[in-house]
Amino acid sequence: MRRGLAGGAVGLAVLLLAGAARTPAPHRDRSQFLSEYERAHPDSAAWLGFVRTLADPRFEGRGPGTAGIDSAAAWLAREMNHMKLLPGGEEGGYFQAMEVTTGVEVGTPCAVEVRGKRTEVGDSFQPLGFSTNGTLRAPIVFAGYGITAPGYDYDDYAGIDVHDQLVLVMTNEPGEMDSLSRFDGSVNTPHAELRTKAINAREHGALGLLVVNGPRYHAGEPLAKPRTEGSGYMSSGLIAARISEAIAGRMLERLGLTLAGLQSTIDAHTRPHSVALPESVTITVTLRRTRATIKNVIGWIPGVDSTRTLVIGAHYDHLGFGNEGSLAPDSHLPHLGADDNASGVAAMLGVAHEQAAAWRAGLPPQHNWVFCAFTGEEMGLVGSSHFVYQPTRPLESVEAMLNMDMVGRLRDNKLLVMGVGTASEFPGLIERANRPAGFAIKTSTDGFGPSDHSSFYRRKIPVLMLFTGAHADYHKPSDTWDKINETGLFRVGRFAGALLDSLDARPRVTYQQAQGDSTMGRIAGGGGYGAYLGTIPDYLQTEGGVLLSGVRAGGPAERAGLKGGDVIVKFDGVRIDNIYDYTFALRSRKPGQQVRITVKRAGAEQDFLATLGRRP
Ligand SMILES: [Zn+2]
Ligand SMILES: [Zn+2]
Repeated sequence: MRRGLAGGAVGLAVLLLAGAARTPAPHRDRSQFLSEYERAHPDSAAWLGFVRTLADPRFEGRGPGTAGIDSAAAWLAREMNHMKLLPGGEEGGYFQAMEVTTGVEVGTPCAVEVRGKRTEVGDSFQPLGFSTNGTLRAPIVFAGYGITAPGYDYDDYAGIDVHDQLVLVMTNEPGEMDSLSRFDGSVNTPHAELRTKAINAREHGALGLLVVNGPRYHAGEPLAKPRTEGSGYMSSGLIAARISEAIAGRMLERLGLTLAGLQSTIDAHTRPHSVALPESVTITVTLRRTRATIKNVIGWIPGVDSTRTLVIGAHYDHLGFGNEGSLAPDSHLPHLGADDNASGVAAMLGVAHEQAAAWRAGLPPQHNWVFCAFTGEEMGLVGSSHFVYQPTRPLESVEAMLNMDMVGRLRDNKLLVMGVGTASEFPGLIERANRPAGFAIKTSTDGFGPSDHSSFYRRKIPVLMLFTGAHADYHKPSDTWDKINETGLFRVGRFAGALLDSLDARPRVTYQQAQGDSTMGRIAGGGGYGAYLGTIPDYLQTEGGVLLSGVRAGGPAERAGLKGGDVIVKFDGVRIDNIYDYTFALRSRKPGQQVRITVKRAGAEQDFLATLGRRP
C-alpha cells in the first residue's frame, strides 16, 4: 500500500510543496486563484460531457465483468492523467484492483430425471443461480407457493413433513393479480422472491427446491436462465432449479392432479393445499462462479501537510445489462447510469480539474486531495470497502470523506446532504458553503447509507454525501445523459468544491457518532419490513455468516450485547450463511419477539438474547 501513493511522482511533489510552503498566506492566494479560475471556466458543458461519455452504451452500463467497465476505468485513468493528478492506485498506477464473483455459468452435468425420463438443461430445466452443486435423489412434495407467512396467516408447510425431501413450488404468491388478495393485491411481497422460498424450504428441512411457473398467469413463459451477473450467486444451501409445467405435470400425473387445478384450489380461498407426491426425482446441478477483476481508479493532489488527507469519492460502476439491482429486471439493455453515477464522477472530475490547476500554479491545498472513482458500489460497496481496508494512503490521515452519488437531477433547487451528524462542525460548514450556493438543503444526520461514504463512516471517518434525489429512471436503462440537469450538476459540484475548500482550510473536524435515521435506505428502496435489530452488516460479499461492522447506538442489538466484528451465524434457529439468510430471518420475525442470536466472536460461538424492535 505504500507503493501506491508514494510512487515516483513524490520527488516532484516535494519540490512543489517546498515552494508553496514558503508562500506566506496560501489560503487567500488559493481561494483567489480558484474563484478567478471558476470565472474563467464556467464550463458546465464539459461536465455534462463527462456524464455523456461515461453513460455511453459502449461502456455497457459499466457492470462488473463486462469489457465496458474496463474501458470506462481506462478512460478515467486517462482523464486523471490528462489533468496531471498523481496516480493514487497500486504500483505507481491509477488502478487499485480486486477480484469479485460476478455471477454463475451453467456447467455439465445439469439435468432432471422424473419417471425415467431425463431432461438436460435447456427450455424445460434451468438451475437457479443460488443453487448448490451436486446430485440429489429424493421423494417430492408439492408445497403450493412455498410460503410461510405468519403475517398473512398463511403457511404452505403447515401439516406436511418435507425433511430430506425435494419440494415443488410455484412462482409468486396466492392471488398474484387479485387486488383483494391477502398478499397485498397485485404487488408481490418479499415472500414471492425465489431466494426467500429456497431459504424457507431449507429451514423446513428440505434438501432441494424445484420451481415451476404458476400456470394461471404465467403459462408457457420461458424459464429464466440463472443470472450471469450480479450478486445473486451466494448459495442458498440447497439444490434449486426451475422446471417446465410439463415436467411438473409428470410429477402430479399419478395422483390425477394438475398444476392448474392445484393453483385454483389454493387461490380460491388463499388456503394451502400441499401434498406428498408418489414420485422420486433426481436433479443434478453444476454451476461455476465467474470471477472478474474490477478496479478503483484513484488520482491525487499532494497537500502542503502530507499527514492530512481529504477523500472525494464517486462510484463509476453501474448495473451493466441489469441484474438483481435492476428495477427493469426483464430488460437486457445496458443500464446506462447517467445519474447513477456518471453524474457524481463528472462532478468529482470537475473539482479535480480545478484543484489540479491551482496546484500546478504553485498553490497546493493543505491536505492531500485523493479522488476515488469507486467500483463495485452496486454489488455492495465493494470498491470503497476494499479501499478502507487496504488504503493506498494511511487511513488515519483521512480527516473527512465527501461522496457524490446521483447528483445530476436537481429539481426545485433541492439538495440532500447526508452525514451532517458525523462531525460536530459539519452543520456550520454546510450552512456557510450554501450561502453563495443558495440550495434548498435538506440534511440527514446518518453516516450510514447505501453508498460508498458508509465504508468510511464504518471506519469512524466523518462523511458527507450529496444527492439530488431519486426518480422514476433510477436503476433502469432509461437513466440517460440527456435527462441530466446540466446547470444543477455544475452547481452541486461547485458546492462540493467549496465544502472541500473550507475543510481544507481549517483544523481537523471532530468525528462523532451520528444519530441513525433511515432516510437514505428508504429513498433507495432498501427500507425494511418486519422486525428491527439495529445491526450494520458489512456489505462485503461474505459467506459463512454475516459480519457486523457495527450496531446502532441504543438499538436492540447493542442492548443485547452485540458489537462490531461479530459474525452472526444463527438467528432464532435460522442458519445464517449470508445476508439473504439474515434478511429472511428478520422478515419472518415480529417486533417485540425475543430471539436467540449466535455469533462468532474471537473464534468462539456465543449466544445473545435480543428483543426485536420496530424499525425507527
Ligand atoms: Zn449510486
Ligand atoms: Zn445504484
